[in-house]
Amino acid sequence: MATSVDNLKKRLADTNALGAALGLMSWDQQTQMPPGGGAARAQHMGTLGRMVHDHFVDDETQKLLAEAERETDPESLDGAMLRNVRRDMDLSTKIPSALVERKTFLSAEAHEVWVEARKANDFVRFRPILEEMFQIARQEADYLGFQEHPYDALLDQYEQGATGADVRAMFEELKAFTVPLLQEIQASPVKVDDHFLEGDWATEKQKAFTEHLAREVGYDFGRGRQDAAPHPFCSGWSIGDVRITTRYMRRLDSAIFSTLHESGHAMYEQGSPAEWDLTPLAGGVSLGIHESQSRLWENIVGRSRPFWERYLPELQATFPGIAAFSPGQFFQMINKVEPSLIRVEADELTYNLHILVRFELECDILTGALTVKDLPEAWNAKYEGYLGITPPNDSNGCLQDVHWSGGMVGYFPTYTMGNLLSHQIWQTLRKDLGDTDALIREGKFDAIRGWLTEKIYSQGRRYTPRDLVLRVTGKPMAATDYCQGMRSKFGELYAL
Ligand code: ZN
Repeated sequence: MATSVDNLKKRLADTNALGAALGLMSWDQQTQMPPGGGAARAQHMGTLGRMVHDHFVDDETQKLLAEAERETDPESLDGAMLRNVRRDMDLSTKIPSALVERKTFLSAEAHEVWVEARKANDFVRFRPILEEMFQIARQEADYLGFQEHPYDALLDQYEQGATGADVRAMFEELKAFTVPLLQEIQASPVKVDDHFLEGDWATEKQKAFTEHLAREVGYDFGRGRQDAAPHPFCSGWSIGDVRITTRYMRRLDSAIFSTLHESGHAMYEQGSPAEWDLTPLAGGVSLGIHESQSRLWENIVGRSRPFWERYLPELQATFPGIAAFSPGQFFQMINKVEPSLIRVEADELTYNLHILVRFELECDILTGALTVKDLPEAWNAKYEGYLGITPPNDSNGCLQDVHWSGGMVGYFPTYTMGNLLSHQIWQTLRKDLGDTDALIREGKFDAIRGWLTEKIYSQGRRYTPRDLVLRVTGKPMAATDYCQGMRSKFGELYAL
């Protein structure tokens, strides 16, 4: 006889299928769809978005959930699943379905407008849609409810339990660490010239090389694929189909690190236990932890010296234009610290300052302290203040990120959390695995991936993000390991 949990799972499988269709449409929109498909796609996605929401919050799902909760041990695996469904239900039922439909429709439309506006450096074109997007975010915060700041409600959707006050404290600590270290680096006699990475690198070769690296670290192409997209992302609909994207630029390292980054996200998703597929237990538990996995593979593994001791000869065979450099020189070039305009191209150290800018601006727009109209000016002033550079135009300024067109307000701080957690998790991994430099140099990524799979990937959404961090690293998220990692890497690189 089917139990109440079985009945709920059956119901959720239908919601999952609708969500998968929506996810596939979004992937297609960003990778394959002809421009003429934009208007209809916005309609279709708006409709499907509403259907996913309505199906999930329907009385029938709520009744089955309540029954299942009564009959399930909260400490069991099913109990963990129910906890996730209850949280998703609490978040979803607070937001009216009309607002969900409007937001889904608007974000599909906004994506097209954002792409055009960025290309044409035309903020005014994007402005009305961005104004509505922030109005929606503010409404969402009001519906979700918060105690101190509307930001708390929005952030909690992405990182359960985190608040704006936590984020502010995290940035205070990081600012106090980053700014003096940056000054030391800028005063160092070591100057890194990385212009050799610029060039007309053949797209086909970049594609082949990045796919090779993704395969090497353990991304499973039997359960994934890589395509090009203007803003790299990873998305999946089952453990058997988790896709990555990258972008081919005039800088040789751009696609390489985008691919390693998205491979980190994808391996996390591919690493859920097969028996959890299509259930609320599968996948990543929070955006911060997700980002810790992408940054770990991108920065700690991919931007390490031993990684390039292993792969530089292959890269040089593919692109003879960089044949003159040693692994040590290449290691310097790909780790050059320099305040820059574009977040996704930023070095590991200044990256968090880019996030700080966005966090502060979002907070101010949500409270009305800043209007969207004045956003470009405020953006530029903060870049001048924190990074010492002023964007020459909005394309390289406030129009650079995809997030706001998707209505993802409250999302950015999870990137910085990911940076901190990547180092915290890596320090724990090193205690268990020993000489990680040797593992990387010898291409023994199975050992690293195996450890991560056991501790993190295979846990899916079983524990809350906070509990998972505690279980894996023995302490709550902190900046200590990240700061130590930065000191040690850049101390060596810049002879500090
Ligand atoms: Zn990421």
